[in-house]
Amino acid sequence: MHRVIFLLFFLLLAACETDILRVVPADEWDQPTSGTPVSAATFRDVSRAIGSEARTQCLRETRKQNCDFRVMVDVNPRAPANAFQTLDENNQPVIIFTRSMIRSAQNKDELAFVMGHEAAHHVLGHIARQSKNASDAATKFGDQERQRGGSDAEIEEAQKLGAKVGVQAYVKDFELEADELGTIITHNAGYNPLIGAKFFDRIPDPGDKFLGSHPPNAQRVQRVLETSRKLGLTQ
Ligand SMILES: [Zn+2]
Repeated sequence: MHRVIFLLFFLLLAACETDILRVVPADEWDQPTSGTPVSAATFRDVSRAIGSEARTQCLRETRKQNCDFRVMVDVNPRAPANAFQTLDENNQPVIIFTRSMIRSAQNKDELAFVMGHEAAHHVLGHIARQSKNASDAATKFGDQERQRGGSDAEIEEAQKLGAKVGVQAYVKDFELEADELGTIITHNAGYNPLIGAKFFDRIPDPGDKFLGSHPPNAQRVQRVLETSRKLGLTQ
């Protein structure tokens, strides 16, 4: 799902674009999906519905950001199951699903839920907030090392560590925020987030590791349940 590595990802692209990213817009994606639970047509429907609801939520926010979501498919057959949100060169939000991710969804609700979660990261301004957290902590760690009398190399190392800690400090909160708004987007777009969140039953649980990149699955499911209850949804 959402990763901090999205920037790295695009840097890598420049290096070996033929191997890593071959994306097509969701609307033009029409691969045979025989043997998979969700058809290409369903994926296109979900993309349109979630994109439209995410836009509505995004326009309500006071952040001045581009709200025209584009959903793309990474058609590289070797890409692992993944979905993530990034920004293109015009700051337009892009949600990318790999083919194996689409294949791994058991139904339209799971697909909608994952897409709603990724869209929520953008609506909530997570990329900008994360890079601010990283740069603030990098500055703080670097200054402390400078005051300690560290060498330039040590100051640089401290800044790098600070950037990592700054990202990690909020990454779990951001995931839960995206699960909450993602649940609302999924529901408003006409899908069932309670069915969609069954997706968590099948992905590896990161557990409750300190400085882990994702909250435990149980905590995420809990957030979906609480939000669904507020929306009047029952299991
Ligand atoms: Zn995420």
